[in-house]
Amino acid sequence: MSTNNPTATEETHFFGDVCKNFDHAAQFTKHDAGLLDQIKSCNSVYRFRFPIRKGNGFEVIDAWRVEHSHHQSPTKGGIRYSEMVNEDEVMALAALMTYKCAIVNVPFGGAKGGIKINPKNYTVGELENITRRYTVELIKKNFIGPSIDVPAPDYGSGEREMSWIADTYATMNPGQLDALGAVTGKPISLHGIAGRREATGRGVAIAVRECVSVAEDMERIGLTTGLSGKKIIVQGLGNVGYYSAKFLSEFGALIVGICEFEGAIYNADGLDVEAVFQHRKSTGSILGYAGAKQEFKNTMEGLEQPCDILVPAALENQITVNNIRNIKAKVIAEGANGPTSPEAEEIFYQNGGLIIPDMYANAGGVTVSYFEWLKNLSHVAFGRINRRFEENSNLNLVNMVEGITGIALTPIQRATIVKGASELELVNSGLEDTM
Ligand code: GLU
Repeated sequence: MSTNNPTATEETHFFGDVCKNFDHAAQFTKHDAGLLDQIKSCNSVYRFRFPIRKGNGFEVIDAWRVEHSHHQSPTKGGIRYSEMVNEDEVMALAALMTYKCAIVNVPFGGAKGGIKINPKNYTVGELENITRRYTVELIKKNFIGPSIDVPAPDYGSGEREMSWIADTYATMNPGQLDALGAVTGKPISLHGIAGRREATGRGVAIAVRECVSVAEDMERIGLTTGLSGKKIIVQGLGNVGYYSAKFLSEFGALIVGICEFEGAIYNADGLDVEAVFQHRKSTGSILGYAGAKQEFKNTMEGLEQPCDILVPAALENQITVNNIRNIKAKVIAEGANGPTSPEAEEIFYQNGGLIIPDMYANAGGVTVSYFEWLKNLSHVAFGRINRRFEENSNLNLVNMVEGITGIALTPIQRATIVKGASELELVNSGLEDTM
C-alpha cells in the first residue's frame, strides 16, 4: 500500500538507515573494520531498462536486481513491483535479506529486485510481458538461477508473477534439472509449497506471541504477559498484514484497528479481519465497513489510536519523528521492512517501548521459501517423503530431508522441522502430486 505519508514517495536514505543499524551492532563485535565494510556493502547492483509495448506505443521500464552479499550462495530475496521503487530502496531491502537469512539460519545471501511500475496500471498481458522480459534480462547477466540468485514475491508481486518467472527461466534453460529452484513463492500447482503464501504473516504472529510471553519484558513496558485480549492495530491488508491479523486473532488477540492507503478503521471491541477483508474485496475500500466504530480518511491517524501492539505491515518509513510520539502502542512488530526510522526507534525506546525488528519478525517468508527451494532441488515432495514412513514422525522428515539433499541441517532448522513442521504445513500437506 502507499500512504499519505509524504516521505514514502521521496528518495529515502533507507540503505543508510540499514547501515546505521549495522554499525551500531558491529560495535559489539571484534571483527576487522575492513571485513565489516565488506559485509555491509552491496556486492552487485544491476540497474537496467527495457521497453514494452503499451497501447499503440512503447514504454520504457526501470528495473533493478541487487545482490547484497555472496557469503552464501544462492542469494535470495523478493521482487518489488512499485512505482515508488528506487535504487536506494532495493539496496536496503537486499541488505536486510542478508541479515534476515542469517538470523533464521537459512543458507542464503541477501538480494532484492525492483520493477518501477504500479501494477494496477497494466493489463495482465502487459504484466506478463514485463515479468518475462525482466527475467530474460536477469538470465542474460547471470543474476538468476537455483545456485546463483533466487527471487520470490514481495510488495506488488505474488504467485502469478513467480510462475511466469519459473516458466521463462525453465524455457531458456532447457534440460536444467533444477530449473524450478530458480524462484520461490510459486503456486502449489506449479511446484510451490503449502504454507508459503501465509508464511510471512504467520511468522509475524508467532514473533509477537513469543515476545509477549516474556514476563520480564512485559512487566518492564507495562503490559500483561500473553497475547490473549491484547489490542492490536495492523497497517496494511496485503499478504503480510492480512495473514498477520488473521493469525494474531486466532492466537487470541483483538484486532482493533486496520489501516490501508484509503484510510483506517477502528473498533476498541475488535474487528472481524475476514469480514473487513471481504468488504474491501467487494467495495475496494476498508472504509464503510459496518463493524467499525471510527473511520479515518488519513491512514496515518489510524496508527495513533489506542492499542497495545502496532504491526506496520505495509512499507518502509511509516513511523518517523513526525508521528512516533503519538503512537500509543507499547510494542511495534515490524511486519514490513524498515517501517520505523532509526530516529523514531530511538525515541520509542527512550519512552519505554519495545520493537520486534523486521529482519526477525518477517523472516517467515524466506524460511518457507527455503523449504520450497529444497523441495525443488531434491525433486521429492515433503508429503511424499513422510508417507514412506510407517511412523509419521517429523524427526523422520528431518532425517529424510538431510539424506536426500545431502545438506546437514543446522540445529535450529532441525528444531523448526521437528517442532513446527505441522504448523508450517509441511507435513501431510497434500503435496503428493506436486514437487
Ligand atoms: N520478499 C520476502 C522478504 O522480504 C520473501 C523473500 C523470499 O522468500 O526469498 O522476506
